[in-house]
Amino acid sequence: MSRLAALDGVFDLAIIGGGIIGAGIARDAARRGLRVALVEKSDYGSGTTAGSTRLIHGGLRYLAMLDFRLVRLDLRERETLLRIAPHLVRPLQFMLPFYQAGPWRRLKIRAGMWLYDLLSFDKSLPGHCFFNARQVRDSEPGLRAEGLEGAACYYDAQVDSPERLTIENILDARAHGAVTLNYVEAVRAVKEHGEICGIWVRDLEGGDEALLRARLVVNASGPWFDRVAARLGWAGPRRVRTTKGVHLACDAVGRSAVVLTSPLDGRLFFVIPWLGYSWVGTTDTDFEGDPAAARATREDVAYLVDSAAHYFPALRQARIHWTNAGVRALVMKRGSASSISRLHRIVSDRPGLISVLGGKLTGYRAIAEEVVNLACRRLRHRRASDTAEAPLPGGEGSPAHDHLASIYGSRASAVRALAALNPELAARLAPEYPDIAAQVVFSVRQEQCLHVADFIWRRSLLGFQPDQGARAVETVAAWMAQELGWSEARRRAEIEACNHRIQELRP
Ligand SMILES: Cc1cc2nc3c(=O)[nH]c(=O)nc-3n(C[C@H](O)[C@H](O)[C@H](O)COP(=O)(O)OP(=O)(O)OC[C@H]3O[C@@H](n4cnc5c(N)ncnc54)[C@H](O)[C@@H]3O)c2cc1C
Repeated sequence: MSRLAALDGVFDLAIIGGGIIGAGIARDAARRGLRVALVEKSDYGSGTTAGSTRLIHGGLRYLAMLDFRLVRLDLRERETLLRIAPHLVRPLQFMLPFYQAGPWRRLKIRAGMWLYDLLSFDKSLPGHCFFNARQVRDSEPGLRAEGLEGAACYYDAQVDSPERLTIENILDARAHGAVTLNYVEAVRAVKEHGEICGIWVRDLEGGDEALLRARLVVNASGPWFDRVAARLGWAGPRRVRTTKGVHLACDAVGRSAVVLTSPLDGRLFFVIPWLGYSWVGTTDTDFEGDPAAARATREDVAYLVDSAAHYFPALRQARIHWTNAGVRALVMKRGSASSISRLHRIVSDRPGLISVLGGKLTGYRAIAEEVVNLACRRLRHRRASDTAEAPLPGGEGSPAHDHLASIYGSRASAVRALAALNPELAARLAPEYPDIAAQVVFSVRQEQCLHVADFIWRRSLLGFQPDQGARAVETVAAWMAQELGWSEARRRAEIEACNHRIQELRP
């Protein structure tokens, strides 16, 4: 039977885009009892969500831009995510070192730290403190010592896998009755009396098309926003500016997260400990192509290495294992890319349509709540959001610390149960990794995992290994072939596609 048969009937909300924001909207709306359908043209969380720095933060840079509304919103959401997804989101200590800083810069840093604490007055994380040069050298020996005077220290948070955060929002939406389909693309709008009343969608797996009828359509397609808006009949000017940001996964050169100013152009960038790497990023350059085609160029890599090696000399020799590129969707404005606000905008200027422009990963839940509040007003549906209190799937109880729990939280017990039933499923996918075959079977049966690449990069953390999970690709493909009844040709094609992607991300 066609997967699209699930789209029968009339939905309250049809959401285009299964990135973190679309997934968050689906979760919030489904939990409020709305009839929800979501279509994602690729895999959930594979767009900009997978290209982020992976910080759950207010953002010192946005404080410097005096974007207090954004910083306050995100600091509140940081606290919410630490509470509802403790297995995925955890506190991270940051250091902002200063080198030969004049009195004005010192005053600015002090005021910034004080304000950051003030805007997160209801936080559970410790407040800021200052280190002298010796304390900085003791805790960060790889940092250039010459001219170092001290550092401001503060806390933010980090999510190892925003991809899994997205999946968990999808899972919760589905548990509350939402229909969500990955690899299904919104093709064009359907209108009645000038009002959008649905969308034609195409199954990119099977090729068939279906009409998805809905009382409201939500465009949550991130950097594809203007392309999707055009498909929905918008003929006006572009409303989203798209800029590319690149990260490098390098051999670790530091211990804590460090915020630095590039000597090349004065932009702030990060060197962050992440899964054993120093995660260096990011760039910020206008990007006009298909966001799915964004890649790190030689210039991007050189910019980041030159910027970071200025402070961490060892980075010049450090191995770069792989690169990552994402495309931001910013509310359209002229000026340098870095100077544009990251605050989202929700627009409902056409009957039947709600559009989400911009927005950060950190604030996704609050953005989703705002969208669903608006939808509820339109649909005359009265029910408040509970997503700030309800834990995400896997987020119940206190977080365990083994490998499976770091991926699935409390749902790890279901993976272990599979492995207990069949010893073959308890076997490792490759001797080098802790991941086991039961995870593949679990992802196919429970998490809409349709391709080998979905498993490698978005259901597990294998794609973030130094070899990007290359050693596990064949075994994952074998298990998926068995679960999904793939032909030999399909199995081979899946392996090839995955290996091609691995090559593309090498520096
Ligand atoms: C370099 C970089 C660093 C960042 N760092 C951080 C950070 O540290 N912290 C933070 O809070 N934020 C950060 N962000 C911002 C954050 O990543 C984004 O705000 C967030 O991921 C946006 O999610 P989204 O759902 O709007 O977009 P996406 O994740 O791009 O989702 C949109 C989805 O729509 C789908 N789609 C498009 N067209 C169609 C169609 N026709 N039919 C069906 N589906 C369609 C796409 O396939 C895509 O999956 C960063 C962004 C970048 C680029």
